[in-house]
Amino acid sequence: MGLLEGKNALVFGIANKHSIAWGITQALHREGANIAVSYALEELERRVKPLVGELDIDFVERCNVLEDEEIDNLFAKVKDHMGTIDILVHSIAYAEREDLQGGYATTSRLGFRRAMDISVYSLVALTQRAIPLMPNGGSITAMTYYGSQKVLPHYNVMGVAKAALEASVRYLAADVGPQGIRVNAISAGPIKTLSASGIAGFRKLSKFAGEVAPLRDMVTQQDVGNAAVWLASDWGNMVTGETLYVDAGYNILGATILEEDLQ
Ligand code: NAP
Repeated sequence: MGLLEGKNALVFGIANKHSIAWGITQALHREGANIAVSYALEELERRVKPLVGELDIDFVERCNVLEDEEIDNLFAKVKDHMGTIDILVHSIAYAEREDLQGGYATTSRLGFRRAMDISVYSLVALTQRAIPLMPNGGSITAMTYYGSQKVLPHYNVMGVAKAALEASVRYLAADVGPQGIRVNAISAGPIKTLSASGIAGFRKLSKFAGEVAPLRDMVTQQDVGNAAVWLASDWGNMVTGETLYVDAGYNILGATILEEDLQ
């Protein structure tokens, strides 16, 4: 029997087969969850529907998290389809491409607003609508990155957004904890996805992380999917408001230099 047998999950953020949300969806499915999926743009329907069709997921609906009405409509459909949910996965982020090249000081007001709205406020907006659908408690998981804690080249406004996202996770966890709803973040090491490819120098940065991280390996979608299963399952029962690092240990390093390079 799977760890998530009998649980209903709603997943946001599948753009294609490289998306972290797709790795999470596969892992939730493997553990027996009944899954509904939402994607952002009309153009993605072509890609997302056949992908989730591989797992016999028949609830696939569009929702731009910038639009309250779209979020309301989506949750109304989820309620009709599933009644209640136990798991919500937020794997959504956006920043203007020009804000992910060069430095942070040049960030435009509009770029800042959009990054915060899509990458941070959306978690609040989705949690608000999830609460009434989680009468028996539940688990909400968002995706973050170490650029929230330390300065990483070109991560810029997204680092600031991830810091706000992690703080939101803590505030939301305190709000909804009394209803038995847990809210956590997974801080994943770099994984090559559509969003990541918009960050200048990402390929080099991720290769470097894999070389110096204590576990000397790159993190995969599957690694994140497995951590997401644990957080969503009853085994993660007393864990809330946390940021769980799934990064091969990179975040514990004070100096990212290999022992042999010190000789
Ligand atoms: P991805 O496949 O490009 O996923 C990002 C998702 O956000 C896409 O499905 C995207 O849809 C969606 N999105 C953007 N604007 C949206 C909107 N207005 N409404 C609804 N959805 C919207 O990239 P990913 O790397 O898997 O990113 C997933 C999450 O993991 C993000 O929070 C990211 O910051 C985080 N993360 C990634 C890494 C990494 O190295 N890849 C590491 C740590 C954390 P569209 O494509 O249609 O815009």
